[in-house]
Formats: sequence, structure tokens, C-alpha cells
Amino acid sequence: MQELLTLSLAEVHRKLQAREVSAIELTEAILTHISAVEPQVQAFITPTPELAREMARRAQARLDAGERSPLLGVPIALKDNLCTAGVRTTCASRILHNFVPPYDATVVARLREAGAIFVGKVNMDEFAMGSSTEFSAFHITRNPWDLTRAPGGSSGGSAAAVAAHMAYAALGSDTGGSIRQPAAFCGVVGLKPTYGRVSRYGLVAYASSLDQIGPLTKTVEDCALMLNAIAGKDPHDATSVDLPAPDYRAALVDDIKGIRLGIPQEFFEQGVQPEVAETVHQAIGLLESVGAQVQEVSLPMAEQSLAIYYILAPAECSSNLARYDGVRYGLRVGAERGHIGMMEATRAEGFGKEVIQRIIIGTYALSSGYYDAFYLKAQQGRTLLRQQFATVFQQVDALVCPTTPTPAFPLGALVDDPLAMKLADVLTIPVNLAGLPGLSVPCGFVNGLPVGLQIIGKPFDEATVLRIGYTWEQLACLRDELRLPTGLAI
Ligand code: GLN
Repeated sequence: MQELLTLSLAEVHRKLQAREVSAIELTEAILTHISAVEPQVQAFITPTPELAREMARRAQARLDAGERSPLLGVPIALKDNLCTAGVRTTCASRILHNFVPPYDATVVARLREAGAIFVGKVNMDEFAMGSSTEFSAFHITRNPWDLTRAPGGSSGGSAAAVAAHMAYAALGSDTGGSIRQPAAFCGVVGLKPTYGRVSRYGLVAYASSLDQIGPLTKTVEDCALMLNAIAGKDPHDATSVDLPAPDYRAALVDDIKGIRLGIPQEFFEQGVQPEVAETVHQAIGLLESVGAQVQEVSLPMAEQSLAIYYILAPAECSSNLARYDGVRYGLRVGAERGHIGMMEATRAEGFGKEVIQRIIIGTYALSSGYYDAFYLKAQQGRTLLRQQFATVFQQVDALVCPTTPTPAFPLGALVDDPLAMKLADVLTIPVNLAGLPGLSVPCGFVNGLPVGLQIIGKPFDEATVLRIGYTWEQLACLRDELRLPTGLAI
């Protein structure tokens, strides 16, 4: 049983194909495991065991008919900001606690078509604002490597569920690091695809010029299989790009000879713990020893990224979250207080403190008289950063650096220190501002906690990013250690 649970998605797919296990047996095994482990980890907001059982029956019928899709019959978890027809989608917010979408997000529909089995909707920071999942309106989630530590955020439920083997893969969303940072903290693989690579139709919007959906998985191969299922143009999302998506699984050659890797020096400063930098430098040394050409590069604007992001993201959120007015969906409070009174009461009660702060900051930054000083200035900074990335990518094929400055921090340590919490994303945010693909792969351990290696690629070059990640994974040989997170008795 334990052996089945700790398999990768690709491995369990082969077992399903070989009839060594049925989708129904596999789903029962996962549901039993969830009942045992979930009380410790608390990764789920809405577990969906009955839906999973029904999906497993249908998947098994397709397997019996000879279908071979890699996700067919595989249990998967979904971040709770992805719309699921008939299953409540809360965004970890009181304001959407009772919202049941009438439609599926495009990525959800694609996973359904591919035959994946949904085991539930997983926890996150409210509206994806945060870096520890502690800003969920419902409950915290614990890191499977050490239950006293945060799993990262905002896709903390996705990362913890995969690390604790409660799902073979999960979808998350990444606006400033929310896939990569929790992936690094929980010792799993996480990919933020290029802006435009994956449809956001049905993703509850946070900051629309930055949001992307991507997979969290146990291996790079699994990440490629998930991306194959979700990438591509969608007529429902005008920002999805009409470029052919290659077969990412086929791009995974264990060879990076001649690949030019840039080491952005600014990504080793900015509060990066020396042991983390050391672990990543060792990884880079190994990559060099198998033929990568390594050179130092510089992205001076990266140091302004946090300041730029914390104008643009709140500005966009203040506009996106205006729709939660108690009229159209979700919570309604104070119906007797008239139209404006009802809206005020609903928003005051429905949103958590972090979300309210961001709406206020964003509204301020966009108000007349301040727009030029804040929003416009931030946009100009963003353009400069994009240009610097473009210049660097004329010399190198990809950039390598740490995903986060430190490993997972203790629960409660940063909730009252907003700047320290935001600094957890200092190395991931530049990638969102420039719209680039970024992958976090487990790189080693510091004090027994996983550390992530971040690989940043050219726009729409997920194939190279995944290939480097795959090569690193084969070199690192961490798989066996990663199978058994130390915080759990599995
Ligand atoms: N922690 C960052 C924020 O709070 C990034 C979140 C995300 O990527 N969704 O905005």
C-alpha cells in the first residue's frame, strides 16, 4: 500500500495500464490514506470522496476499453480557486464559502477529459494572497516535512497534498511565486508556465497580468505530463496564446551538454541563507560537470521587483475583487441596511485582513493624483525588468538560482511581520513580472528541510526548463529521500 502511494504519476499510470491495480482500488487506497494523514496535514478545504469514486468507475471503464491517456485513473487535487462545476470553490474566503460554480475552469475540464480523478479542493491563502497558507479563512495547513512549519503559499494545500501522497499531482496558481515557493518548501516539483501558455478561464482572478496556473508533482516527468494536459490556446481566455504546445514529455532528455546557464547574482543576495546558496551552488557545479556552460549574469532591476509587484498586484486585486458585492454570488450580510450598507457589511465581514489591506493599498495606488507616482512608475519598472531579462536571454538559455531565500519557516513566525512574509517571494516574483516560465525542483536539504532549485526560461520555452530540471533530478538522486517526508508516519 505504501509502495503504491509513494509512486510517481508516471509510475502509477504504468501500473494502471498493466492492470496491476484498478482505478477503483487506487482511489480507495488514496481515500484511506487521506483519512489517516489529513488530520495532521489539513491540506483540504473540500474533500470529494464520492466524486472521486464516481470518477474512478468511469476511468476504469475507459481503461478497460483500452484508452492509454497518462492521467487516466490518476487521483489529483485542485487548488480551491479553480472553478469546479457542482463542487464549491471558496478561494479560502468567507465571502465565497458557499459558492458552487456552474462551470469548470478550462484546466479542470481538460483534466476531466484526460480521465484524472478529483480527490478534492485544497487549501490556500485567501484569494491566493500570501506565502504560508496561514491566511486561509478556514484553517492552516502543515508542512509534511515538519508539522510545526508552514507548507508555503499560496498553493500550500496543493504542495502538502502531493508531498504527503494524498494526490499524485495537484494544480496550483502562481502570481508571485505561489506554485514554486510551496513546491520548494514541501520538496515537490512546481512549474509556473509562461504567461499565456495555460488558459486561466475559470481561475478566480487575483492579479490578471501575473496569474498563471501550473502543476505541482513528485517528479519533473509528471510535471511534463500535467503540462501536456493543460497547455494550449483556449477561446475562452484571450490571453492564452495560439502557439503549438510541444510534447513536453518527449522533451525530457537526460542531457544538457552545451546548454548555457546564467547565474543571476542578485538572486543569491537579498537575504538568501548561506546554506541555501551553498546547496544551489553545489547543484550548479554538478550541472556544469555534465556539460552545462555556466556564466554569471546580472539583472539589477530584480532588486526592485518586490516594490513593483506590491503596487501592481494590489492595484489589480482591488479591481478584480470589486465583484464581491453580496449581490451576484457568495456571502450577503446586512440585507436590511440598504444597498450600500449591505455591500459594506458583506465586504467587511467576508474578506480577511490581508485581503482588505491589499484592496486598500491598490485603491490608493490607482486613485487620481497618485496613479503616476505609483502605478505608472511600477509599470515602467516592470518594463525595464523585462528588458533586462530579454538582454540576458540573448546570452544564456536559462537561469538557475534558489527558489526561496530560506527553507520552510515555522507556523506563526511571520504572520505579524508582513515584510518578512513578502520576502519569501523575493526570488520568484521577478519571473511573474517578466511573464517567464519558472520551475522549482528539489535541490537538497538544509537542516532536514527541502530546498528548491529554480530554473527560469525564455518565454514559451518550458521544454528547456523541464529538460534541465529532469537532468538535475537524475543527477541529484533525491527521489528515495523525497518519498518519505519526515513529519509524517506513513
Ligand atoms: N505571496 C505573493 C502574494 O501574496 C504571491 C502569491 C501568489 O503567487 N499567488 O501576492
